[in-house]
Amino acid sequence: MSPFAEADQSYRELSPVQLWRDGSPAEKRAFFGGWLLVLLLCVGLGLGTVHWNWSGLPVRLGGVTVYVTPYLPQPICLLLTLTLGWWWGAIPAYCSTLVLALSAGMPLHWALLFACANPLGFAMMVVGYRAIAMRRDLRDLTSVLYYVQLSFIASIFGSAGSLIWSYTNHLAPGAQLPIWQGWWLGSFLQSVLLGGPALALLWPRVSRWQCERQALMRRRRGGSRRSVLRMLAAVAAGVLVYGFVTIRLAEADAQGAPEVFRQTVWIFYWVFAAIIVVFAFFGYQLFSHWQDSTDSLLSEMQRMNADLERLATTDALTGLLNRRAADRQLDLEWHRARRGHASSLVLLDIDHFKHVNDLYGHPGGDVALRSLAASIRCVMREVDVAARYGGEEFLIVLPETGREGAFVFAERLRERVAVADICHEGRVFRCQVSLGIAVSDKHEPSYEHWVRRADQALYRAKQGGRNQAIMGV
Ligand code: GH3
Ligand code: MG
Ligand code: MG
Repeated sequence: MSPFAEADQSYRELSPVQLWRDGSPAEKRAFFGGWLLVLLLCVGLGLGTVHWNWSGLPVRLGGVTVYVTPYLPQPICLLLTLTLGWWWGAIPAYCSTLVLALSAGMPLHWALLFACANPLGFAMMVVGYRAIAMRRDLRDLTSVLYYVQLSFIASIFGSAGSLIWSYTNHLAPGAQLPIWQGWWLGSFLQSVLLGGPALALLWPRVSRWQCERQALMRRRRGGSRRSVLRMLAAVAAGVLVYGFVTIRLAEADAQGAPEVFRQTVWIFYWVFAAIIVVFAFFGYQLFSHWQDSTDSLLSEMQRMNADLERLATTDALTGLLNRRAADRQLDLEWHRARRGHASSLVLLDIDHFKHVNDLYGHPGGDVALRSLAASIRCVMREVDVAARYGGEEFLIVLPETGREGAFVFAERLRERVAVADICHEGRVFRCQVSLGIAVSDKHEPSYEHWVRRADQALYRAKQGGRNQAIMGV
């Protein structure tokens, strides 16, 4: 599986502002131009639906008649929503439904409300994919089932508009069922049979493009607590306002309706409102709980990784870097040296350390090693890198330091070590060190070669009587 398949799950939206600012001319042409064409196409298809009277077409399925309304702008805009973002799909969906409604003679105030239906359904899909970063290539059963479930919920929500359609067209009660059923079933079937396969086909390319062009995506943490809360609240409020306005408008127009009917509608509405609020609250709690556990697991893992990294690179006795980490630093510094940045390397070995161990025991020797590490830390600069390179051998890399600087450093360290009192079990002693220095060379064949030159200088320091620093050739 490609690495993109794992990284692309969170719901990302193409930001029109960032596309305008940072997109290439070809991208701008493709997205803005393509989107405008799709918008016009959707308006045309919407008008076609009215022109050919596709509302609530009867289909016989195993002896039962069901009603289906084919409305092609719906799967097209759903696809835009799921690949580019809600606004990209919602605007063409709104425009096409609005034009359709107006051309069918619906009064403007009803038409403006009526056109919200599909965008509302899309918002449900977005909430779903925002809350759970399910893969959208629909390559496994779980993701297919999730898509189908979301499509169903979105279709039911979106079909609320059919009530307005029935009302404004003064349809008899018996004629309203085909319209409502045709609407949600049509929307559901189109989402599953047209939108789904198209999404599965397009998604691998879309997700790869999203990963490559992160700069054009809206900067927002996918599935974050605040965005889920905002979206849930927006959708809950949207549904409630939509229902409220619809009933109020209907009430205003239907003066002669019996009181009992009016009251029943309002009771139903408030119960429905309570259920919506409870579900939104429950959903948010569930999400928060899930995110809390994920967050704590993640921070625990990060802490453990940091611990592991520290353990792998630190010398336990002195707290300086270990040989492995030192080699990595040396390699880095050697590469810099090849580009002309002079650095120096100091290799240090305790004089007659065997005597220290003999006199004060191994624990006494360990205390001496820790004391030496403390002296090194005192003398070196922040950018210098110190490591325990062997048993009682230390290595210090001095970036951007030439011959003179390195020699001054080595001498200062030697003097400091020589006067540092080491206390162990009530006894006090001192150590001396010999140091070999090697300044980097642009033509050094390898960092190992650089270390070897420092080692040769150290050997000469030992030969020359110890307790001294020698500059290598
Ligand atoms: P020279 O002046 O030539 O360096 O003599 P030296 O006695 O220091 O000889 P050498 O550098 O070969 O010393 C190695 C000794 O360092 C051997 C070992 O006992 C001691 N040593 C190495 N690692 C440790 C350690 O972790 N703790 C202690 N206490 N001693 C160590
Ligand atoms: Mg040694
Ligand atoms: Mg030694």
